[in-house]
Amino acid sequence: MSQDNLIKMECSVCHRINYFSHKNKKTIKNRLELEKYCKWCKKHTTHKETK
Ligand SMILES: [Zn+2]
Repeated sequence: MSQDNLIKMECSVCHRINYFSHKNKKTIKNRLELEKYCKWCKKHTTHKETK
């Protein structure tokens, strides 16, 4: 019925988009923030949802 919402996960340090994900707006209302490895920063950083 409804299309999955594709979201981009952006490194909060270098602001590069490293990951893509899907979010169900019905279950997740807040912006996603995940600790993920950034190959540009070469360390784990906070990745935030961006559009
Ligand atoms: Zn980074």
